[in-house]
Amino acid sequence: MPEPYWPKRKGSYTLAEAAKNSQFARLRCRYCKIERYYPIADLIVVFGNVECDDMIYMRDWRCTKCGQRNTLDMDIGDPPAAKRQQIKIRKIDRIEYVRKIVWKDE
Ligand SMILES: [Zn+2]
Repeated sequence: MPEPYWPKRKGSYTLAEAAKNSQFARLRCRYCKIERYYPIADLIVVFGNVECDDMIYMRDWRCTKCGQRNTLDMDIGDPPAAKRQQIKIRKIDRIEYVRKIVWKDE
């Protein structure tokens, strides 16, 4: 079984590189302790191939349970088989595109 891998050197590890080692990223809220696993492939769809360390600071990501910001920790690693039944995996359901009109005066 591959070991969860987290690089020592910061700023060198992107989501696509993480996806080679694992299928999932675990996001955990420090405040309310909830944790969810996200397919890394889905995170790349949303964020692009960004560095793992940067991802949780992008797009004002906040905990959907408690609504707090800056409480999320992320690490890369698949859920242990024994835990597989209890954990929640959060996948992209759909992506909605919003059409926004901007007026100008002439
Ligand atoms: Zn929370």
